[in-house]
Amino acid sequence: MVKARRAIGLMGGTFNPIHYGHLVAAEAARDAFNLDQVIFIPAGQPPHKADIHVADPEHRYLMTFLAIVSNQHFAISRVEIDREGPSYTSDTLAHFHRLDPTVAWYFITGADAILDIVAWHNPDSIFRHAELIAASRPGYSLERIQALEQQLGKEPIARIHPLEVPALAISSSQIRERLKQGLSIKYLVPEAVEHYIAKYHVYG
Ligand code: ATP
Ligand code: MG
Repeated sequence: MVKARRAIGLMGGTFNPIHYGHLVAAEAARDAFNLDQVIFIPAGQPPHKADIHVADPEHRYLMTFLAIVSNQHFAISRVEIDREGPSYTSDTLAHFHRLDPTVAWYFITGADAILDIVAWHNPDSIFRHAELIAASRPGYSLERIQALEQQLGKEPIARIHPLEVPALAISSSQIRERLKQGLSIKYLVPEAVEHYIAKYHVYG
């Protein structure tokens, strides 16, 4: 019997902090695309977030670890955290492709991030090394992907797969804002993450 080609999802993000929106999108992608695994990749230095408070990479790594540990199919990678300089998705996808060119690699983003992709570093390389899954996200329309065709061309657009996921209007910025105001973040992030943030005063 011929073994089916392995398919692995890569979920990049700042995860500042990780929340249920990220986890639901990753699990929905795993289900819909029959992925063997989803690897979460916390960014080291996010190139587009230089101006906002980003928690220490080790805190973000550990919070992400706590959030994914209970899912058999979820894993975490330090590749961006351990790499010097800004964390470019193109470098990360090239890294995983090199690691195993026989795997079908899928990069998972939300509907907001996919729309920024033309502005990302080296989009050609991104499309060469992975297919993209664009998860729906409240406040952002997946229909706008078609509009990227003018900038990117037909072929790359065919490699973007829109995916409706259960809608969770949660963002890390909103969570940081709630913490600043002393509001509860219960049920927005996994309990272990909530406790980690409180114990180590991650956001002051
Ligand atoms: P911030 O508000 O700080 O930008 P964020 O909540 O957008 O944080 P990121 O770490 O920037 O989280 O996002 C990582 C990836 O997860 C992106 O591709 C983003 O589009 C996706 N994502 C984040 N929140 C959701 C959500 N609620 N539903 C679907 N996708 C999401
Ligand atoms: Mg974001």
